[in-house]
Amino acid sequence: MLRAILSDVHSNLEALQAVLEDARGQGAEEIWCLGDTVGYGANPNECLDLLSSAGALLIAGNHDWAAVGKLGVEWFNPDAATAALWTGRQLREPSRRLLEGLPLREQRGAFALAHGSPREPLWEYLTSSWVARPSFDHFDTPYCLVGHTHLPAVFSYDPRLDRCLMRDFPPEEPLPLGEERLIINPGSVGQPRNGDPLASYALLAEDAGWLLRRRVPYDIEAAQRKIREAGLPPRLWQRLSHGW
Ligand code: ZN
Repeated sequence: MLRAILSDVHSNLEALQAVLEDARGQGAEEIWCLGDTVGYGANPNECLDLLSSAGALLIAGNHDWAAVGKLGVEWFNPDAATAALWTGRQLREPSRRLLEGLPLREQRGAFALAHGSPREPLWEYLTSSWVARPSFDHFDTPYCLVGHTHLPAVFSYDPRLDRCLMRDFPPEEPLPLGEERLIINPGSVGQPRNGDPLASYALLAEDAGWLLRRRVPYDIEAAQRKIREAGLPPRLWQRLSHGW
């Protein structure tokens, strides 16, 4: 069975629709979503509705909890705080209930799921092998899927040498799932920050033993227009053009 692994949708409906269409076209039957489904973009309810109706497995990100007041926004940068408070005001009741009930961690077969890291699911950014190393002690499965940095990446751990390595997760190059323990970030659907404005996600073929990262074009201008019209901070729509 093929699964679509999504993260950091961030209320970007145009990107989410394009990714789901691409994933279905590839034969994906199930969706796992690694948190920050809302925040920054203009369509929080619509994104949650679309993922719910597709039966997606969702976990909590910092923006998801901030939107429903389970986290204070005092540690957010000003643009993120403004967006979190705006999102909170837009939420319909079913969306609010869904976000309030999101778990911090999930486990499915050989995979642990956490937004930031298995060590600190809401806040930790896995941006280096040095930071990622302790997280390998915080999940029991061979593999872990994370988001949060909006940067596609693969971390591997060699227990004999107690060594963690970070490497790129290039698109369209199958990542084999072998004996090596891995933490994998598929990049962001709705607000990429790797210098590539296309939506990013991964396909997981667990039985065949590989993951594949996909880049998907979407109507960036439509998403930007809605963020602008909502009166959200300009940087939130401007950055979608260049993917930083
Ligand atoms: Zn995020």
